[in-house]
Amino acid sequence: MSSKPSTIPLAVPNLLGAEARYLQECITSTFVSSVGPFVNQFEAELATLTGTEAATVVCSGTVALQMALTGLGIGPGDLVMMPSLSFIATANSVSHSGAKPWLIDCDVQSWTLDLGLCRELLERETEPDGNGGRRHRESGLSVRAIMPVMIMGATLDFGAVVGLAKEYGLRVVVDAAAAIGAEAKGGVALGATGVDAICYSFNGNKTITCGGGGCVAGGAALIGRIRHLCSTARVGRDYDHDEIGYNFRMTNVQAALGVAQLERLDDFLAAKQRIRDAYAKLAGRYPDHLSPFPQPEAGRSVHWFSGFWYRGDDESLPDAFRAHMQAAAIDLRSFWKPIHLQEPYRNALASNMPVAEGLWRRIFPLPCSTHLGDEDLARVIDAADAFWAPHV
Ligand SMILES: *Cc1c(COP(=O)(O)O)cnc(C)c1O
Repeated sequence: MSSKPSTIPLAVPNLLGAEARYLQECITSTFVSSVGPFVNQFEAELATLTGTEAATVVCSGTVALQMALTGLGIGPGDLVMMPSLSFIATANSVSHSGAKPWLIDCDVQSWTLDLGLCRELLERETEPDGNGGRRHRESGLSVRAIMPVMIMGATLDFGAVVGLAKEYGLRVVVDAAAAIGAEAKGGVALGATGVDAICYSFNGNKTITCGGGGCVAGGAALIGRIRHLCSTARVGRDYDHDEIGYNFRMTNVQAALGVAQLERLDDFLAAKQRIRDAYAKLAGRYPDHLSPFPQPEAGRSVHWFSGFWYRGDDESLPDAFRAHMQAAAIDLRSFWKPIHLQEPYRNALASNMPVAEGLWRRIFPLPCSTHLGDEDLARVIDAADAFWAPHV
């Protein structure tokens, strides 16, 4: 009897570097809580990598986005433009800040926020508020920020994002949750593009993980403000607090993992690229049916997830392919359901969504752990070939 092969997961942590040693250091030194040398080191390294003056680490990517908005003074009465094709956390972070999301369709080529549509809506549905910003006419809310998402690690046209934001008096908070290591056009660091804040996630399935965690990178004043808010707004060494703060810090234990993971970022990114190339090659065998995930030309994308999408017309094929892969013990699930279709955001302000609604069921994120072996990669490709070959 042959035993059933174990399921190849979508993305699991690769903890084969200095992780165990650094965790042991936390135990030995007793620095297991929110103060400690790994926290400081991780923050310094993240600021350098991002090209910002400073960075502060927090307990999740969702919280990083929320605190970037709060730190910029965005909250109740405000609107934040963001793509509907994202993980729900992007919208949740806006809600937690007290502001409301304005959900916008994505661009059909890049799958990132459709900036042309943003401009059209700003022109048609908002008016100058007299303070350099824009008031949304129907809701009366102030459009204060734009939150583009680097979907699956794709880079953005930062020049266009920042140009639009300047024109309409908006702040830019980048959801780079899954995009650590990405660069703007010409190899420019994200921090040198003119955006206000860049937010990362270190959740278990991200390229770099701390188990859980997040980071906001940006200017020194903004980051100082966020750090203060996230550590109970404490002043000095005694129990003095000058406002209602949060306990949103990352622990030294999480940061120890982060420091060890960052040491191998280049290797991880190379592994992700190799996996992307393999899936792009596979998609290339079925050009009438499949295309790889977009890779915007202007800059470096980091392929947190890779795979392909179905471009044909047979609406039953995507689910049939998912079932086929599951039966072959490959963890292929549905991609993110757009946020405007999610129960809590059903009544959110939203654009028309032909692109996001047409795309999401056709997207197939395939296994992409950085230590995915050749044998497993071949198993994924063979299983996919077995499904698509009869459809050529
Ligand atoms: C992972 C992710 C988040 C949320 O990060 P958490 O650390 O899970 O809170 C937000 N946005 C995007 C695009 C993500 O991929």
